[in-house]
Amino acid sequence: MRFGLHMPLKGGFTHNVNRAAALGCSCLQIFPGNPKAWQLAPPVMDELEQRRRLLIEKNMAPLVIHSAYLVNMSSANETFLRNSCKLMQETMGRAVLLGAPYVVMHVGSHGGRGFEAGMDLFVSTLKRELGKWPPQVTLLLENTAGGGTSLGGKFPFLGQILKELGADVPVGICLDTAHAWAAGYDLSSAEGAKASMDELFAAVGFERVMAIHANNIGSPRGAHRDRHVHLREGLIPPEAYSSLFAHPWPEALPVILETPEIGSHWDEINLKDLRSYMEARV
Ligand SMILES: [Zn+2]
Ligand SMILES: [Zn+2]
Repeated sequence: MRFGLHMPLKGGFTHNVNRAAALGCSCLQIFPGNPKAWQLAPPVMDELEQRRRLLIEKNMAPLVIHSAYLVNMSSANETFLRNSCKLMQETMGRAVLLGAPYVVMHVGSHGGRGFEAGMDLFVSTLKRELGKWPPQVTLLLENTAGGGTSLGGKFPFLGQILKELGADVPVGICLDTAHAWAAGYDLSSAEGAKASMDELFAAVGFERVMAIHANNIGSPRGAHRDRHVHLREGLIPPEAYSSLFAHPWPEALPVILETPEIGSHWDEINLKDLRSYMEARV
């Protein structure tokens, strides 16, 4: 496992990479641009090449790119769907230029048309778009807080998506612990975490889980609310993380913090807590 942070928007790329390295991070997650915009700024090749080199120099790997929150590959609105596909195409291209092997995307929502129709649209859109994307970048579907019209809260749905896409596509899973809690998974103890992970692995396959967002959460389990908090202040206890980390994860698995106040002194505290949970793994 390699621990890292989601990069703050403030401060600039070089500063933040140097800061992450100084904090002992060995991987990083970034937004490709403004996470609330439909377009990326045009690529500046020199700058991207410099950034790619800096990441290599600082041994920050893998780089994970988190796609914009607006993306919904199962949107009933044709303009939204078209924009989502276009933005994902740009994001994939940006991943290649930065040398990022992974792009994370939230599983979308069906927008009120029903689960089956939403799922069909999500899978058919993804099948079509995957053919246009660079094969060296793996798409990671992130589980969501679930509830309402969301498709990505329950692990069996993620499994269903992977199954329908087929085994030979570059698609994996990014597990967000706070989202799993919000969707109802019991991470309140080591036993609960183990049972929840057994469910995840049974649904998607252990080897398809290629990244973890090790967030903690302040809203009640199953409430479908996603209030990220500092690790030591959340409802998921240290022993649940220790249980999660005890699985035979690949050495290069990125474990990312998307905790509040990223860029503040809290990063050091959260990383320290994360490492202590790993050391106590059972
Ligand atoms: Zn996310
Ligand atoms: Zn996340």
